[in-house]
Amino acid sequence: MQAGFLDHLTRTLGDIDAAGLMKREREITTAQSGRISLRDGRQMINLCANNYLGLADHPEIRMAAAEALGAYGFGMASVRFICGTLDLHRELEQAVAKYLGKDDSILFAACFDANGGLFETLLAEEDAVISDSLNHASIIDGVRLSKAKRYRFATSDMDDLETQLKQAVADGARFRLIATDGVFSMDGAIAKLPEICGLAEKYGALVMVDDCHATGHLGPGGKGTPALTGAGDRVDIVTGTFGKTLGGAMGGFIAAAQPVIDLLRQRARPYLFSNALAPAVTAGSLKAIAIAEAADDRRAKLMAHTRKFRAALSEAGFALLPGETPIIPVMLGEAQLAQDLATALDRRGVYVAGFFYPVVAKGKARIRTQMSAALEDADIDLAIGAFIEAGRELGVI
Ligand SMILES: *Cc1c(COP(=O)(O)O)cnc(C)c1O
Repeated sequence: MQAGFLDHLTRTLGDIDAAGLMKREREITTAQSGRISLRDGRQMINLCANNYLGLADHPEIRMAAAEALGAYGFGMASVRFICGTLDLHRELEQAVAKYLGKDDSILFAACFDANGGLFETLLAEEDAVISDSLNHASIIDGVRLSKAKRYRFATSDMDDLETQLKQAVADGARFRLIATDGVFSMDGAIAKLPEICGLAEKYGALVMVDDCHATGHLGPGGKGTPALTGAGDRVDIVTGTFGKTLGGAMGGFIAAAQPVIDLLRQRARPYLFSNALAPAVTAGSLKAIAIAEAADDRRAKLMAHTRKFRAALSEAGFALLPGETPIIPVMLGEAQLAQDLATALDRRGVYVAGFFYPVVAKGKARIRTQMSAALEDADIDLAIGAFIEAGRELGVI
């Protein structure tokens, strides 16, 4: 390979490291859960998985996946429309649709792909997307891939949303689609869906919600932010993932009215040109939906941990972003401080990750903690103690 090119990459990596922005991966040697072990043998309390209900190692999900592995083998070796559609795929699509109260749904290899295929397929040049400024990277990329006109509103700012909608109308957009995360993954804030739907109705817009950080654990039956906020089926399109609450393996989906799903099946490029979900993942995700829907006990435990951890850290003097979801961001400002606090917590047996630019804005580095029903009360107490000690050591509190 050209030496000049490799030198260029090495210099870029050096710059990333010098700025304190290098992400380093620690190797886990156990199943994903509230307690995990690392390569060096240490057991850690895990505060950074998206394993909200603790289903990632659930015995019934493991069993469903193992049975599908036995019955259907390891992989499909085909995209869906050639010879890759199993009865299991249709069962999962129908289960997602029923769970979220939509006509139908369509599976993708990841929600990143679902968001990547959505906008380009449904909207054309004469249309408009009005997107929240804090939306997930996959929405940003998906919108970029479409030819629709783009408008951005300051996160959860309803005045700005209205301004952008008026502009889209003035610009003559044929169809207008408002796109928002249901829960903003870095802040843990819940989108103002009833207000968004109200503005959508006023200006004749559609509403799309990416509910990756909500489906399965927020709202009645875990049906996500439309159910939680009362917006319900005023939300037209929901995208989501099986890679978080719903078993945590992989795969994404879009749920919506029948013609939306039917057209995506014909035209969405990440659907047409990428392999079908593996049978074990499909069967495990199907079981995860059934378990999640009935898991009021796990949701109650998750929210009890959330209230306790939030109150204790706030009382200790940490700067938290306000909110009610199991995402509890501890704000630190500079990337290096977030990294140092993560290291100090690691030494105390608490596994967290520092988040910094480009994942969040410069100067807004944080440790994003996430609660899980896989954690026990004693784990929460230990984690609180470790945060207080480490925070004092670094002068954060
Ligand atoms: C995690 C996440 C995604 C990506 O989901 P994958 O299935 O892992 O690709 C998309 N949108 C949001 C809001 C997310 O939090």
